[in-house]
Amino acid sequence: MPEVKTRDFPAASAVSILDPQIRMALQRAGTGFDGGRRECIEEVTPQVWEEWREQARQTKLHTLDHLDYYLEMLEERVSANGGQVHFAADAAEANAIVADLVRTRGVRIATKSKSMVSEELNLNHMLESIGVDVYETDLGEYIIQLAEETPFHLVAPALHKSKEEVSRLFTEKLGVPPMDDINALAAAAREALRQRFLEADLGISGANFLVAETGTLVIITNEGNGRLCTSAPRIHVGITGMEKVIPSVQDLAVFLRLLPRSATGQRITSYVSMVSGPRKHDDEDGPEEFHLIVVDNGRSRMLADPDLREALMCIRCGACLNICPVYQKVGGHAYGWVYPGPIGSIVSPMLVGLDQASDLPQASSLCGACREACPIRIDIPRMLLHLRHKLAEEPDAGGRAKGTMPRPIANGFAKVMANPGLLSATRKFARAAQAMLLGSPISPLARGGRGIRKAGLPLLSKWTHSRDLPEIAPRSFGEIWKQELSNPDGER
Ligand code: SF4
Repeated sequence: MPEVKTRDFPAASAVSILDPQIRMALQRAGTGFDGGRRECIEEVTPQVWEEWREQARQTKLHTLDHLDYYLEMLEERVSANGGQVHFAADAAEANAIVADLVRTRGVRIATKSKSMVSEELNLNHMLESIGVDVYETDLGEYIIQLAEETPFHLVAPALHKSKEEVSRLFTEKLGVPPMDDINALAAAAREALRQRFLEADLGISGANFLVAETGTLVIITNEGNGRLCTSAPRIHVGITGMEKVIPSVQDLAVFLRLLPRSATGQRITSYVSMVSGPRKHDDEDGPEEFHLIVVDNGRSRMLADPDLREALMCIRCGACLNICPVYQKVGGHAYGWVYPGPIGSIVSPMLVGLDQASDLPQASSLCGACREACPIRIDIPRMLLHLRHKLAEEPDAGGRAKGTMPRPIANGFAKVMANPGLLSATRKFARAAQAMLLGSPISPLARGGRGIRKAGLPLLSKWTHSRDLPEIAPRSFGEIWKQELSNPDGER
């Protein structure tokens, strides 16, 4: 497992929020990817889009309810096609399976197409430790590998890098001259990787979907590298989470419509590759061996939790990241592990432990934009609230998370909000106290102007450190309603 830095979220996000390069990259993703997604919805019509979403959601719900059945079917069909399925309970088991294949088959060089699960396993590190040269072949992943970083976004791992940074990196690591043309940079990467594709003994891929009825691994890419990884080397190993299985090819159709549109605003990706086993005796090419490693690594725990199993329906399109007001400010690295953004704030605590990632469920305004954007209608805000609840109720889950209201204050707040008379009295008292503090020449609050800003007021300082606390209004909405708005005949 890669180093878990989820505990650093508050400090890391405070740093990344001030980085102009990250701000610009996130703005591009927000307008580009999300703008494209919205255009696609208009093109197919919102009504058809909603039908697709419902169909995909029902398919995922059905599959999760019968996951053991479909995984058995998958194993049977892959075996019938001449491949081999391995089930791995955790990262150590998955890595041990790959290491055994490497040792027994004399593998020296491996090429990889994009796979988030392999990031979860820290597979590259393990392979390098046993003497295998590993090359990421997705351009974004290749950049990240050269920079020794982790992905910044689910579908655009090097989103945060400017072309100038990539040029400097390529000059340093590949020895090519500096260049400022993106096509030239892509050509330099292609040139460096071409020979690796030809030399590799082992090709490793992830899977966007696993079709149970045919034993097929499906990957969608825009660069064609996935196809080279799965067909050129003599051994192909597919590694993916057990939740990627779907029942049939017919079910696949709706996901192939939803995923590229939600991810990048494309009607379809440039390549849709379907692998159903090793080369047959009359095939001209293809791998001699096909191994599919189906990884659990904490997913059974999620499946067993009725409140969180919905997170397993995620197809990693990244739409929730592109629209999230928190991700859009702090970017992917602040989340401290493999999966960033709103869905990462649920998946990471479940996979690395809630005690390790207790800040992540707080990293949401609960605005619901992620649920609206999600092609599977995954109810992310509900699950974030559930995790917050767990943190508040279960000391073993990490105790009270930083940023969570202490229980006596929460109870007091609930009492005040439930009692209109008490609320009105509290509001009047708070307004008087605020006026007194603002009027005092020695008050730190007075120095912030009309609102309270950066004041060291106990309890409020975390809020006011980066936001204004507006002056409390002279009349509440309830009073305005009673006095003016509820009287349609009265003068306004
Ligand atoms: S939760 Fe939904 S929107 Fe977010 S990555 Fe997963 S499928 Fe896409």
